[in-house]
Amino acid sequence: MKKQDTVYQMLDALKNGAYTAGTLALGTLGLVCEEAEKVVEAVRLRCEASRVEGELDGELMEVGELAYAAYTGNSQVSDTMEEKMRTIDGLKLELDSLNGQLGRTAEHRVCPVCGRAVEREDRFCRDCGEKLD
Ligand SMILES: [Zn+2]
Repeated sequence: MKKQDTVYQMLDALKNGAYTAGTLALGTLGLVCEEAEKVVEAVRLRCEASRVEGELDGELMEVGELAYAAYTGNSQVSDTMEEKMRTIDGLKLELDSLNGQLGRTAEHRVCPVCGRAVEREDRFCRDCGEKLD
């Protein structure tokens, strides 16, 4: 299941939960909110990572063009090239850090039906029995 779908289902679960709030323990609702925030954070990180990836692709392509220009005899490219390499180094670091954060947040899965935290290897929710993907 896509992360975005999970967010929508979480929001639905929260909305439905609000109607029956009288019967819900506040602690459970708090846990659901906390898990929803983690999912939203993971989506944000994923968007940020793909933005950086796109930027990195663009820079690498420009470096490729510069390298080709150097090969064909344009001798004025070295400064620009070094600048580009530094930009690429920065983007790579940013992407590594984002992927690292994503790796950590990816461990926090929740059941799309009841919002209970589930383990990565769980195939069914231990609370409501929903099949997990
Ligand atoms: Zn469940």
